[in-house]
Amino acid sequence: MGMLDGRCALLTGVATKHSIAWGITRSLAREGARIVLAYQNEKLKSRVEKLAAECNAEMILPCDVQNDAEIEELFRSLKQNWPKLDILVHSIAYAPREELNGEFLDHSTRDGFNTAHEISCYSLVALAQHARAMMKGGEGAMLTLSYLGAERVVPNYNVMGLAKASLEAAVRYLAVGLGKDGIRINAISAGPIKTLAASGIAGFREMLDYVEKNAPLCRNVSIEEVGDVAAFLCSEMARAITGEVIHVDSGYHLLGMHRTP
Ligand code: NAD
Repeated sequence: MGMLDGRCALLTGVATKHSIAWGITRSLAREGARIVLAYQNEKLKSRVEKLAAECNAEMILPCDVQNDAEIEELFRSLKQNWPKLDILVHSIAYAPREELNGEFLDHSTRDGFNTAHEISCYSLVALAQHARAMMKGGEGAMLTLSYLGAERVVPNYNVMGLAKASLEAAVRYLAVGLGKDGIRINAISAGPIKTLAASGIAGFREMLDYVEKNAPLCRNVSIEEVGDVAAFLCSEMARAITGEVIHVDSGYHLLGMHRTP
């Protein structure tokens, strides 16, 4: 018997087999959850279709979170097939590549700021508004993905650090609003993992090397490890946890100073 037997899970953010959302999808499916995947656009559709087949997803549905009509249509389609929703995974972020390279002050623009915050943070609020109606009366769980750049300055992470700080604050505000309906929401702050989104951050390879050298566990983390924590957070076992940001980063966030050679 799995931790999530029969639970209905909507996951956003699967783009490739390296996506963190894909690690989460596999853990949720392994624990018995029923899966629907939402994909960003036509360009990703065939790739997501193949992955959907691997995890026996019941549907794949399009949703660009910059488009309110697509968000509405996503939940309309979902409701036609599922009477209720138990789990929502938000694994979406974007900032223009030019803003993720060099000094924050030199590379920030109004457009870049707005885009990063809209896609990486507001989208959680928009999805939560729709998901809430389908989760009422159950024991719903929502989950989003953050990074240490929300709390500390990480070279080149720049505007995305601001967007993640906003996302983590949103988790706390949403936890209060959703708690009355018995719905929980948490974030996983994952260590660096090589994915499509991560490839947009200048010097990403160095981040991986640095964590491997300095983290308490002396290694990086995998999408499977993030997936397993996600399964726990979405399960009954975490029924008293909400509004938290859980670090899944080999303990890297603890450090105030790197190791001496
Ligand atoms: P990824 O590129 O595999 O996933 C990013 C996803 O965001 C993609 O599926 C993409 O389609 C989706 N997306 C972007 N704009 C969208 C839009 N307008 N509408 C709908 N979907 C959109 O990369 P990932 O690293 O798996 O990123 C997933 C989450 O994990 C992000 O929030 C990211 O910030 C976070 N995260 C990543 C790392 C890392 O090192 N990779 C570390 C901590 C947190």
